[in-house]
Amino acid sequence: MGEEPLLDLVNLLYAVSKEEKEKHPRKADTYWVTDLVRCALKREYELKYPELVEKEIFTPVFILGTLVHRGLQELLKSIMGEGVSTEVEGSREVVLPDGRKVIVEGRADIVVKISDEMIGVEIKTARSDYELPKPQHVDQARIYNWLFNLNQTILVYITPERVTQYLVSDKATEDEVVSRITSRKIPRYDWECKYCSYSVMCPYKVPSK
Ligand code: SF4
Repeated sequence: MGEEPLLDLVNLLYAVSKEEKEKHPRKADTYWVTDLVRCALKREYELKYPELVEKEIFTPVFILGTLVHRGLQELLKSIMGEGVSTEVEGSREVVLPDGRKVIVEGRADIVVKISDEMIGVEIKTARSDYELPKPQHVDQARIYNWLFNLNQTILVYITPERVTQYLVSDKATEDEVVSRITSRKIPRYDWECKYCSYSVMCPYKVPSK
């Protein structure tokens, strides 16, 4: 105690999280798949006040989630070998009703190729197994099915109470994606405000009881 460790693991985890975040800066003409399943204002705030979300890169919950992701990705790769791709990035251009062209970008945790089928795997960690699967996760999986042209996505939940999976075969349409981009649903879910970095300034905050 009190001595400097020869190997500073906390610093290493911090550096990895920071590097990961810096690889994906926000761009005005790009919508992430995650933007389409949450409060529309959060993306606008992130473009305007990026520093307010920076502390999120080092929260224990975030680090735990990252490690579970890495663990399952490596496990699948070591068991199944070829055919397993991780952190797969994809993008598609869509045209909005006002004629503006924007990019929809997403990163699938895992894509597995089995014969001619492409299967996505989306890993979710949570504190509890209450009300699974979450609607925003099912929507995210449906949009990944559209973005990567996947046959299906398996939503895997790793929680202290339950490790379980749900199959999502439905695929979003381009019209749905455009309508989500132009949506002004603020917040999309009432509970979002409780966990939002911008609740300290947002006039639309729904206070929790
Ligand atoms: S506080 Fe609520 S309404 Fe405001 S940006 Fe955050 S999630 Fe959206």
